[in-house]
Amino acid sequence: MGKPDGFLTTSRHNATRRPVAVRLRDWKEVYEPQSDEEVREQAGRCMDCGIPFCHQGCPLGNLIPEWNDLVYRGRFASAIERLHATNNFPEFTGRLCPAPCESACVVAIADEPVAIERTEYEIAEHAWSMNLIRPVQPVHASGKSVAIVGSGPAGLAAAQQLRRAGHEVTVFERNEAVGGLLRFGIPEFKMEKSVLERRVSQLVAEGVRFETGVNVGNQGEVTLESLRQEFDAVVLAVGSTRPRDLDVPGRNAHGVHFAMDYLTPANREAVGGAPTQISAAGKRVAILGGGDTGADCLGTAHRQGAASVVQLELLPQPPATRPASAPWPTMPLLYKVTSAHEEGGERRYALRTREFRVDEDGRVVALIADQLDYTEHGETTVTGDVVIEADLVLIAAGFVGPEVTSLTTVPTTSRATIAVDAGWNCLPASDVLAPVFAAGDAVRGQSLIVWAIAEGRSVASAVHAYLSPDSVRLPHPVEPYSSSWLPQIR
Ligand SMILES: Cc1cc2nc3c(=O)[nH]c(=O)nc-3n(C[C@H](O)[C@H](O)[C@H](O)COP(=O)(O)OP(=O)(O)OC[C@H]3O[C@@H](n4cnc5c(N)ncnc54)[C@H](O)[C@@H]3O)c2cc1C
Ligand code: SF4
Repeated sequence: MGKPDGFLTTSRHNATRRPVAVRLRDWKEVYEPQSDEEVREQAGRCMDCGIPFCHQGCPLGNLIPEWNDLVYRGRFASAIERLHATNNFPEFTGRLCPAPCESACVVAIADEPVAIERTEYEIAEHAWSMNLIRPVQPVHASGKSVAIVGSGPAGLAAAQQLRRAGHEVTVFERNEAVGGLLRFGIPEFKMEKSVLERRVSQLVAEGVRFETGVNVGNQGEVTLESLRQEFDAVVLAVGSTRPRDLDVPGRNAHGVHFAMDYLTPANREAVGGAPTQISAAGKRVAILGGGDTGADCLGTAHRQGAASVVQLELLPQPPATRPASAPWPTMPLLYKVTSAHEEGGERRYALRTREFRVDEDGRVVALIADQLDYTEHGETTVTGDVVIEADLVLIAAGFVGPEVTSLTTVPTTSRATIAVDAGWNCLPASDVLAPVFAAGDAVRGQSLIVWAIAEGRSVASAVHAYLSPDSVRLPHPVEPYSSSWLPQIR
């Protein structure tokens, strides 16, 4: 432990956000840099509690007390080694993870938790600026090949692990550029795309091949069967991208869109692409869904110059502090003020959209919602009507599973996700066809980047064990969602 009394003498201090009026004029990330002294002091709050519950809270099993100690001592080069031992992409999680580790931090029993996520960010950024993150070449070639379908965090983590283990890896991506939701879902102000680009460059330099614009099974000659014939193993990391819809009158009005149909072109435009056809400029915007996707729409709408924005949530407002039903070290659902919420807009709760009002041109002009009252058991009664005027409505009500209709032979669960066995396998090998594995949101359902990376590492371990049964097993931090909900640290 770096500083024995750090948790007693130092308070938690979060990185400062740039002033709202300034950051709304650009798409850049919202946080200001912290001084090295402050970063070290914050890491010194780790009490080295003996049983680090934060390990268990982190799906990757990150070695948090070890790198907190190294950061406190200013040893960033050693810290990135310990961090990379469990996490391929700490610059993604250091920016974007909701940090279940911090909910499980022992200091948090009586005080604010250690700023673990920010320390992770600082380790990664120090390492990049010190030129410590370089391509790692495999020490031998296995002679085996793997096709990965999907280039989100799960596909990228699996690709890096398998390439470093000596296999030839090709990633197929239907979009024009790789990254999955890291690129087309998450806005610049949360993570600038240059952060993704430099990591993809590392993978390319390590020998991972990317084929973009290939929609496996949907167009052209690349199908799941053709990949099974051409490669020794196939991994499906296709995400969970089918949006949950609202079946209410007026749903097909002009001006009502799914959140991703709004965010994807906005993200392209923010990095110099064509102007989006669905801009919030000058519009009264209603966002249906109070989660992270809704918050990303909120921040994007403000940067585009929306006249007003209201974010509606079906459930009641969550509590500000940990409720008795979610005791430490579990991760409670709390009322959060993200950077996007700080920038403006109204948040309304317990509202269920009943109808969209449409003008004679077929354009949405308002939505009508039921105001709900919840009992403690979650039953609802309608207590009134709410009318919200809006000319742009964004449905951010979650996702219902992967798009697998083109991957016809793949088995699915009752949750409409891809069904895998305990070894991440969804289709076994036959005499002529390679086995198919799956991981990430496609298996778990829409989740988090940290889980996608953990599953990508785990599926890589299973594929490597199949291709090179006599080799040392790769790290496999988690079991498939169906067989366990707690991370299994090995
Ligand atoms: C708007 C939004 C914001 C989010 N913000 C956060 C956040 O701040 N923090 C966080 O932890 N999580 C966040 N998430 C969740 C997180 O992004 C996902 O859990 C994570 O990206 C899942 O990774 P994945 O690799 O499984 O899938 P994805 O990232 O969805 O990648 C799947 C890839 O597969 C490709 N693909 C699909 N089918 C085919 C096919 N047939 N052929 C070729 N390619 C195909 C897709 O184009 C896509 O690139 C957010 C999600 C959304 C929607
Ligand atoms: S990846 Fe997320 S849960 Fe794990 S240590 Fe980092 S912030 Fe915490």
